[in-house]
Amino acid sequence: MIDGWLGALFPAVCTWCGTPGSDACPDCQAGLPWNDPACPGCARPQVHGERCGHCAAKPPPFDAAWTAFRLEVPVQQGIHRLKYQGRLIEAARLGRLLAPRLPSRPDLILPVPLHRWRLARRGYNQAGELAHHLGRLTGIAVDPRLAVRRRATPDQIGLTAVERRRNLRGAFHIRSALDGLHLALLDDVMTTGATLSELARACRQAGAARIEAWAVARTA
Ligand SMILES: [Zn+2]
Ligand SMILES: [Zn+2]
Repeated sequence: MIDGWLGALFPAVCTWCGTPGSDACPDCQAGLPWNDPACPGCARPQVHGERCGHCAAKPPPFDAAWTAFRLEVPVQQGIHRLKYQGRLIEAARLGRLLAPRLPSRPDLILPVPLHRWRLARRGYNQAGELAHHLGRLTGIAVDPRLAVRRRATPDQIGLTAVERRRNLRGAFHIRSALDGLHLALLDDVMTTGATLSELARACRQAGAARIEAWAVARTA
């Protein structure tokens, strides 16, 4: 309804080139840094789309991983505006790009939670905003309150993979049993996968049957 009259007041134009019709015209969509092909285990870009050596050496704690994009222009700027400049419209825009391409239909999408202090400071959880739009567009259930971040972990930027892992140990608490559920954990960016891995471990302990790690974009 609201989309309807807003759409009439502000006809959609392509965010990148200004072509009227939709906020992402087919030409510009084709030029986006899609992360395809990629390793199905960890979403690292892979030429043949097969399981990579990292996954063979140390299988991740989730069953599959998927990110729509590589963290490159212009997706990187969109995520930055969403995360640091309060441009919540970017979550809707990215959601529309992701929704038709999701790799599976889980029972539940679980956005990676922020610690309540960070949530209070930022005012919103970017992963929660993205999950909300994916849920709205696909009908998949979203529960932004099921997982709780127990510790206010320092920013992960600049830490090594080992430090990130240590930093996050026991960071998440799952508030109810997930027996037999197929979950998709959702974050904005997947870097080393440490955050999604730690959340996946907590969900596994809570009984989840299948756990996928999803993000908008992945660093190479
Ligand atoms: Zn365009
Ligand atoms: Zn892999």
